[in-house]
Amino acid sequence: MKTVRTGLTALIFLLVSAAVASAGPRSKKKPAPMSAPTPESVFGFAPGADYHLADFEQMIKFYQALAANSDRVKLQDIGPTGYGRQMFIAIISSEANIRELDHYKSLVQQLASGTVDEATAHKLAEEGKAIVWIDGGLHATEVAGAQQSPLLAYRVATEETPEMQRIRDNVILVQCPVINPDGLDIVAHWYAKNVNTPYELAPVTQLWNKYVGHDNNRDWYMFNTIESRDVAKELYQEWFPQIIYNQHQSGPFPSRIFVPPFDDPMNPNIPAEVVRGVNLVGDAMTRRFTAENQPGAVSRQEFDMWWNGGMRTAPYYHNMIGILTETALFDYATPGYYSPQSLPKVFPNGVSATEPSIYYPDPWRGGWWHLKDAVDYMITGDMAVLDIAARRKDQWLFDFWQMCHDEIAQGAKGGPYAYVVPETQHDSTATEDMLFALQTGGVEIRKATQAFTVNGKEYPAGTIVMPAAQRFRPYLVDLMEPQHYPDIRLYPGGPPKRPYDMAGWTLPMQMGVDVVRVDQPMQIATEATKITEPAHHFDAPAGKKLGRIGLYDSWQPNMDAGWTRWLLDRYAIPFADLHDADIRAGDLRQKFDVIILPQQSEPGMLHGWQPGEPQRFGGGEAVTQRPEYVGGLGLSGVMALEEFVKTGGQIIAMDEASQLVIQEFGLPVRNALANVGPSQFYAPGSLLHIDVDPDLPEARGMQKNSVAFFVNSEAFDVWDPKDPAGPPRFTGSNERKTNPFTQLGDHDGIRILAVYPKTNPLMSGWLLGEKLIEGKVAAVSVPFGKGRVVLIGFRCQFRGQPENTFPLLFNSLVISSDSGASAGSRGAR
Ligand SMILES: [Zn+2]
Repeated sequence: MKTVRTGLTALIFLLVSAAVASAGPRSKKKPAPMSAPTPESVFGFAPGADYHLADFEQMIKFYQALAANSDRVKLQDIGPTGYGRQMFIAIISSEANIRELDHYKSLVQQLASGTVDEATAHKLAEEGKAIVWIDGGLHATEVAGAQQSPLLAYRVATEETPEMQRIRDNVILVQCPVINPDGLDIVAHWYAKNVNTPYELAPVTQLWNKYVGHDNNRDWYMFNTIESRDVAKELYQEWFPQIIYNQHQSGPFPSRIFVPPFDDPMNPNIPAEVVRGVNLVGDAMTRRFTAENQPGAVSRQEFDMWWNGGMRTAPYYHNMIGILTETALFDYATPGYYSPQSLPKVFPNGVSATEPSIYYPDPWRGGWWHLKDAVDYMITGDMAVLDIAARRKDQWLFDFWQMCHDEIAQGAKGGPYAYVVPETQHDSTATEDMLFALQTGGVEIRKATQAFTVNGKEYPAGTIVMPAAQRFRPYLVDLMEPQHYPDIRLYPGGPPKRPYDMAGWTLPMQMGVDVVRVDQPMQIATEATKITEPAHHFDAPAGKKLGRIGLYDSWQPNMDAGWTRWLLDRYAIPFADLHDADIRAGDLRQKFDVIILPQQSEPGMLHGWQPGEPQRFGGGEAVTQRPEYVGGLGLSGVMALEEFVKTGGQIIAMDEASQLVIQEFGLPVRNALANVGPSQFYAPGSLLHIDVDPDLPEARGMQKNSVAFFVNSEAFDVWDPKDPAGPPRFTGSNERKTNPFTQLGDHDGIRILAVYPKTNPLMSGWLLGEKLIEGKVAAVSVPFGKGRVVLIGFRCQFRGQPENTFPLLFNSLVISSDSGASAGSRGAR
């Protein structure tokens, strides 16, 4: 029935309806959204204020107060961090959408299945809401990310502009205010301790999370850290966001923010629709920066679309639009001034930094840069993403379905059709680790219910099968197959264009898992199966026990030390952290049998932090680092290490750290790649073939044909110490009459553990100048005094990934059981 009302009655009716809508169906009426607390009222300062950083506790307080006072905000715990803090997400949308959250979640989950038909997909897309993930970043020293999060949450929850209403109606924002709460506190508390002292800008002296620091954004296919597992569950099992925006600092100087489009190369496994979507969002962002009068947005530099494994890159292989921006950073919450004359004239890639160009049409001209500026740029980026998500809501949802659907159809055609993981494996733990990581990343893993035959070989019921006909097929295929990084030069004949991160990462290769590719479609009866993470334990060989282990840990935070700690903890292997002063104090043999030197540059180890020039404070005794962290191993540390080995200790030195031992101890070993320029040799993160001698104690349990993770690493020439010519000097020309060892095996105590093959060392990624590495030694154990030095030229435990070469580290941690030393000492931790 049509009712005619007077204007006044209609107004009252509208107000009552609005009140009912905002109060929701609950009996307990909440205050109107506009009474939500501002971040400033909770923190005591506005986010982004000079010299102030909110920590995680303040963050939680604000979000709890916001959720308690707004029906547009819902908080959800997503799991613990390494140090036991609780991570959370804030889900922000209109009151109506928040009430029906489970419904909207189920719509997107149906679309993500890829199995509904096109007409249904259109209907679901029309009814559904775009899911947008925005996070405050995970790199803790890039401080603006976490600080902008509460401002964005407050704005989306309370602002009443037509634009924001449209956003709330059409978008469900899943905001992770900070992916690395441990790091936020480490950095915020360090800065609070130093602000207004001569150490205000001092670099943090520990990794800003339990294990891996900056590499927390390198873990998005292995999921070795607990935080990446927590987040992966939300992305790939719960919310299936169509757009993921991951905040970072800092972009190519002097730009103020890097915004997509990204640079070439593009990984061919990424769906074209994803790249188109990324470019579209990037364009919306740059337009908004211009509209908001925020100059200095740059695109198509440095950050490429090759790698899988970053927070914004792994989603590409899940048919999701991954956006990264890199906003300019000064230091912490301290403002910095850049005089216009001091700005560089060109970017590292040669593009002008002063004249407008296609991807930098609005150059930044210098001046002050405050934390608040970075926060404002990030909010502009957020708003651009939310706005275009709202405007194209149906399309984003439908496109997502389309990609999931097409990938399933493509996989059903074969080439590949499936990957089979035979039950018999060299290392069953590595196999289970690989499957667990894949399933965490959203890969569908099945188990054969009947025996089947591939290429004349029968596989029994129970064999693991990963069909290519699955929605995240690009992710599965990319992780199973070798990468072929293109040889791109910065200019003809010039140095190579390096990939932003790794060039190759194929999981079965680096983990030493046998996987059989099935190319042609065939019938395999399967059922879904859940993979559980295997237990990890260390077995010492007969007659051996774990030595007392020390792990060198520089005050210059070292991610490789962090990953080594992670690995030892995973296998419950006791150890003690050794800082510079512990080593300089000497008497190491009294306390340790084995000392690990993780990958680190020789100067970094020797000198550590140096006293520097005062920054914001003039004159006096000011230094840039707190005095308790200044200095490295120094001469006394090196002599203590030498004494340790001479009296029977063992040192394991990895990659560049081997240079310290080689040079300071005078070992008959040289890095064949020293002083070779990047135009002649380049392997910035590739999987290389190695031949291994598993009969040697240090290589026990390894496969003869193995794989090394090589990250601009080392390749050794090893000489017979009895050779009267001796090894070549480190500088100058070296005419040699005799040849270094190239054969595996024990040569009078010098054990050649692994060598790069004489032909075709590259397995996955990119290798330029392979002749320079062919036949060289990859790992060697050299006697020295009563002890030994084990030099591992490549990265045997890189990011906790290449399980295939973990034994090279583990085997050298044991001593004979009849040795008097007692195992287990981690007092220094
Ligand atoms: Zn970052």
